[in-house]
This record gives sequence, C-alpha cells and structure tokens, in this order.
Amino acid sequence: GSSNSMGSSNSMGSSNRKGSSSKGSSSMGSSSKAINNNSKGSNSTAGSNSTAGSNSTAGNNSTTNKQQHQSQQQLQPALTSNIPNQSNMLVCVRVRPLMSHDRTQKEVTRVLDSRVVIILDPNKVHEKDDILRANRSREKRYAFDRVFQPGDDNNKVYQNTTRYLLAGVLEGYNATVFAYGNTGAGKTHTMIGSVTEPGIMVLTLQDLFKLSENHVQKHGTKFRVTVSFIEVYNENIRDLLSEVDEFLDLREDPIKGPVISGVTEVVANSSSEIMDLLHHGNRNRTQQATAANAVSSRSHAVLQVVVENREKAEGTSAKIKIGKLSLVDLAGSERAAATKNKGIRLTEGANINRSLLALGNCINALGEKANRGQFVPYRDSKLTRMLKDSLGGNCRTVMIANISSAVSNFEETLNTLKYANRAKNIKTRVTRNE
Ligand code: ADP
Ligand code: MG
Repeated sequence: GSSNSMGSSNSMGSSNRKGSSSKGSSSMGSSSKAINNNSKGSNSTAGSNSTAGSNSTAGNNSTTNKQQHQSQQQLQPALTSNIPNQSNMLVCVRVRPLMSHDRTQKEVTRVLDSRVVIILDPNKVHEKDDILRANRSREKRYAFDRVFQPGDDNNKVYQNTTRYLLAGVLEGYNATVFAYGNTGAGKTHTMIGSVTEPGIMVLTLQDLFKLSENHVQKHGTKFRVTVSFIEVYNENIRDLLSEVDEFLDLREDPIKGPVISGVTEVVANSSSEIMDLLHHGNRNRTQQATAANAVSSRSHAVLQVVVENREKAEGTSAKIKIGKLSLVDLAGSERAAATKNKGIRLTEGANINRSLLALGNCINALGEKANRGQFVPYRDSKLTRMLKDSLGGNCRTVMIANISSAVSNFEETLNTLKYANRAKNIKTRVTRNE
C-alpha cells in the first residue's frame, strides 16, 4: 500500500512540464513565481500521479474553497511550489566569503548576476596590446540555475533550493541535495551551519515541522518524520547517532530499496532537538578525524529524512505516502579532480574517494542516458548504492557546488565549476525520457 516514488510509473509530470519549459526563461526567482508555476507545473505533476489523491487541494480550484486555497498558499509555500527551472535537477553554485585566513588573497571569481559566475585564470598573463582580448582569454563564464554570492546566507540558499523539494517529498517522491566542493569551500556550513546560522538540514526540518502542524489542522494527522544520520568513510557506513561505533551493512530490500541495517532512526519532533542531533552527530564525525585533517574531508555525511504522510480524504481509506529526502555533505572534492579530459568518465586513481568518483560517474551516466539508455553504475560505491532510489528516475536532485574565490583555490574552484556544469546535463535526460 505505501507509495514510494520509485514504484510509481509517474514521471513527476516532466512530460507535461516539457511543453511549457522554455530554456533559459526560468528565473530561479521569487516564491511568487514558484507559486504561479504551480498551476502549470506541480498540479499537472500531481494530477497525473495515481497515488497522489490529495492534490485536488492544491490544484483544482473549482472544487476548492477559495479561502482555504489562499490560506494554504500563505501557510504552505513549500507545498505549492515546484523547482522553478521545470526540471528534476537544480544546479547551483555558492561562493563563500573570504575568511580570515584568506582575506588578503586575490579573488578569481566574480558573480555576474544570479545565474552567471565568472572565473579568471590567474596563470594566463595579459597579452600586451589587446586588453579586451586578453581579458576574454583569461575568463570563463558559467551559467547555472542559481548563483549565490558571498553575502547570501543559508536561509536564502535554502529558500531557493531545497524548499522546492518538499512538495514532492510529501507526495512520496524521493529527493537528494548534495553539497559539493573542495575542503574549506563551505559544504558543512551550508548543510549543517551553526546555531546562529542554521544550515539546510535544520531549515528543512523546521519547515517540515511547520507543514506538519498545518497538516494536523487540515487532516487531523501529523506527518511522521524520522531521521537517520550516517557517514560514509572509506566505503564503510557509520551511524553518527549511535554511541556504538560499528560498521553498518547496506542491503537491498525488494520493497523498501536500499536499507542500512540497524541504523538509528529518530522520530523528529522539534527543530531544537534536530540541531542537537546534528551537532552531536557531526562531532562524532570529527572525533574519528582527529588523526589527520584529511580524514574528515574524506567523509560523506548523509542525513536521511523520511516523511510518512498519512491522509484521509473524505469517504476513502487513508493513504500513506512515504518520501525520502537525503541531504548530503559530501567529502572534499579535491582528490576527485581527475575530470580534465572532457570529463566524460573519471578514472580511478590511488587517492580518489570511491564514493565521490562513483557519484560523478552516475551523474554523467544519468546525463547521457537520454541519448543512449546508458547504464548507471550505482553499485560502484556505498554512497551511490544507498542513494539508488533517490537519484535519477522520478527523483529530484539539487546540487550546491560550493566554491571559494581565493586565488589559492583556483584549480579546485575551476574543477568544481566544471563538475557542476556537467551535472546540468541530467535535465536533458529527464525531459526526454519520460
Ligand atoms: P567544508 O565543509 O566544505 O570543508 P566549511 O563549511 O567547514 O567547509 O567552511 C570552512 C570555513 O568557512 C568554516 O569556518 C565555515 O564556518 C566558513 N564558511 C564557509 N562558508 C561560509 C559562508 N557562506 N559564510 C560564512 N562562513 C562560511
Ligand atoms: Mg566539512
């Protein structure tokens, strides 16, 4: 009876959205834009989803009390919004501010506008005569769904990325958010954050709690939100919420998909509780890392949030929709930088983090799949195996590529921009395939 996304043949309405999507016209814009999109995008999406009975509330004005509809939009922006670029993949770049240790450095990136970032190659010297040409040869421009500037805070990043995923998760679809980038580029700040500036993991749960309260008023039931927090380090899975330090097995359940045996699952009730859990978990991660700094940069931390949405439409029996949102603070990308030769397929070198490498290969394959029905090598690593039901297919993905503008990070920053640029290809696949 439960309707996890992967079982459904529905494609999140991408075929519907395809028609209305016009390349480049989408602005990552305001929430009002996202809400407006609703009448086109998410309702057709939801409407065509055979398991999603509740969508009439969001979608069908003729059967919805107008007042109720309006208040719902005010109270539940996340529920009525959709990924603004009309695809299942959102690729963003976040430029962190210079920190005290690199404050005096020259900067090699510049944010042109909310979609374009420019990177200057400090190694290419000016040509003597033609400054204009020289400048052009020294700079590269990359366009993304959204570029966040050093002044943008975690809340802004959250509102314009992960928040768009909640609607789908509540309808039983899986989704994943990755923070990618070299060590020190701001991944953990983005995902976990601090007490004064909570990160995406915390903000997501805060929103889910709010939505859940609202759901009680409407349906008399709360969502059940459970979280687990694990680390993949050296291809071993460790439970960051358990005091017992042991490696956990990953197995494939024919119905549930990838399952981590014995992982601690906490029923989450408040955001302060979550903040404590995350910081506690992240300390577990760091403790393991005291031997060498490089250790922590090679660990992936994954917060999996499972939302069970039980609702009873009048005259029908209760439906349970189970959606899973995976929020991933990836290992540092510095060792996975073997993306230089066109970046089609990464080759494994001695020091390359296997899970990060496999993730890159899966992303490449998903991007190419549109044309060739390419095999996606989920099985190549622990991380990709565990995210098999949350990446590609009907799932939505947000990639937040974190970069530093400091000249000392030039190579890494350029590699990250190239990697993120390739991740944009996944869109092609989604709109064509379904
Ligand atoms: P990573 O997890 O990618 O290795 P961190 O998130 O730990 O990097 O960031 C490195 C340092 O920079 C930390 O001290 C962090 O607090 C700080 N930092 C990163 N991004 C930002 C930001 N957007 N605003 C303020 N400080 C940041
Ligand atoms: Mg980190």
